Amino acid sequence: MITGTVSRISGPVLLARGIKGSKMYDVVHVGADELRGEIIRLEGETAVVQMYEDTTGLKIGEKVVNTERPLSVELGPGLISSIYDGIQRPLTALFGKSGDFISRGISVPGLDRDKKWAFRPAAKAGDKVGPGDVVGTVEEYHIEHRIMVPPGIAGTIKEIREADLRVEEAACTLEDGTEIRLMHTWPVRKGRPYRTKMDSALPLITGQRVFDLIFPVAKGGTAMIPGGFGTGKTVSEQTLAKWSDTQIVVYIGCGERGNEMTDVLTEFPELVDPRTKLPLIQRTIMIANTSNMPVAAREASIYTGITMAEYFRDMGYDVALMADSTSRWGEALREVSGRLEEMPGEEGYPAYLPTRLSAFYERAGRVVCAGSDRRTGSVTVVGAVSPPGGDFSEPITQNTLRIVGTFWALDTSLAYRRHFPSVNWIKSYSLYLDGVQDWYLQHVSDEWRALRDRTMYLLQKEVELQEIVQLVGPDALPEGEKAILEATRMIREDFLQQSAYSDVDSFCPLEKQYWMLKAIIAFYEGMSAAVNRGIMVRQITGLPVKEEIGRMKEADVAKIKGLIAEADQRIAALEVEK
Ligand code: ADP
Ligand code: MG
Repeated sequence: MITGTVSRISGPVLLARGIKGSKMYDVVHVGADELRGEIIRLEGETAVVQMYEDTTGLKIGEKVVNTERPLSVELGPGLISSIYDGIQRPLTALFGKSGDFISRGISVPGLDRDKKWAFRPAAKAGDKVGPGDVVGTVEEYHIEHRIMVPPGIAGTIKEIREADLRVEEAACTLEDGTEIRLMHTWPVRKGRPYRTKMDSALPLITGQRVFDLIFPVAKGGTAMIPGGFGTGKTVSEQTLAKWSDTQIVVYIGCGERGNEMTDVLTEFPELVDPRTKLPLIQRTIMIANTSNMPVAAREASIYTGITMAEYFRDMGYDVALMADSTSRWGEALREVSGRLEEMPGEEGYPAYLPTRLSAFYERAGRVVCAGSDRRTGSVTVVGAVSPPGGDFSEPITQNTLRIVGTFWALDTSLAYRRHFPSVNWIKSYSLYLDGVQDWYLQHVSDEWRALRDRTMYLLQKEVELQEIVQLVGPDALPEGEKAILEATRMIREDFLQQSAYSDVDSFCPLEKQYWMLKAIIAFYEGMSAAVNRGIMVRQITGLPVKEEIGRMKEADVAKIKGLIAEADQRIAALEVEK
């Protein structure tokens, strides 16, 4: 056993002396309470340890025991609908045991040891199996939880049978005696293996118009949501957690205020998936490391979360991971780095910030899973970023920007005007447009890309026109340009704005999204044609059908198609004013 003694304590970081033979990232237990920490630097026989628990009361000279294992999570039945802290301690269980929100040194396993799961074999004795092969399944809510051969293990099955099993019991035994249990563990800082990465050809459908039709993120892609305080980062992350078309969602509440997390924890269990009609919590894993919890556990929380996401990806599922906020994660990194007296980089963040960020986002992807049946699965990562003062030039925003494929820039002035989601359509972008195009052409409309590009063109044109309006007033614009401003107002108010709190509109089916945008662009084309034959824009905007288009959010697709035809007729029937 490798042991040492505490020689210095500095907030969440301590030095352990005489701990010869330790490796980087070994987990240690400190003091009589066996507080958990992780070795993050080694200098000879002295280890620098970041502590996952509050170090108040810890004294110099206390014993440090090296577990000689890296920080790992338990993977197996029981994850879904669980609420964990940053190092996979179940928060509900912690409530029960200590009465407080979280208490030090309490070691509660991540997976329930007593619960029994009905295991159904999918392989038989004599089968040769390797890493990733599914030996059987258990039913976890409505999810088929596939029990896979863990990475690094292979052999011939000697014994397998249907049985009610606890997570530590063997689902099958290989000829060499290796037991494949319902659960296994995996080190959080190491990405789980897969066969190959695939391209980003499928969009993540979120039911949010500005995301799905304008700035899509691919399944297996990465997106960031930067925005100042109150711009809607948390609401966006929660909306995505609710409505994204994935089988599993991992939601990491990272360093935000405790009451925000409480909102999520109380609201989620009551929500129903509009597609499956099942409770959303039955596909969700929550990780909560709020601002009052230890910073090092916050640093670990995103790795804990993404390891769980990869595990379900390996089963062949699509997983969405939300992290709110990666800035608080970066601050945890900075705080620990500061205690280590490392040479600070930009704004006090450690020089390895960009490497750490990209190592995290790189674990997203759509993959051919390990295993002989060539399943595919994906992990999509959406990270919120909270730049101080909403200033996007700071290091976390800038470094994340270089990595992610979709940039949903939330905008303080839009939020102030109650334009939600406050996604700035000029600053935002998606690098997945070409990749997902075929999917949209097949599943939505062959007009999608043209419609989208037309919309973006008009919105960009609006910026120019508004500058002119500022100088000379709106009346000076020619009718054709007035028509553009009418159209862009419709795009903004009747299409881009979407309240997360609306019963009818918080989730908008893709087909309806398409027809809504189509109705606006068709209306604009109608306006342009009419203007060309001498009609005034105010004649057109006075039509009652325009108001009805403004109420499309409450309409169904048939109604919207009807409105398009009606608008067309009404505009065509207008006569030039004498
Ligand atoms: P942040 O996390 O960026 O500080 P929040 O997500 O808490 O901001 O959002 C602040 C407020 O903005 C919310 O309480 C809500 O009133 C409003 N809001 C944000 N997004 C939406 C939305 N999509 N629909 C309606 N209201 C929204
Ligand atoms: Mg927030």
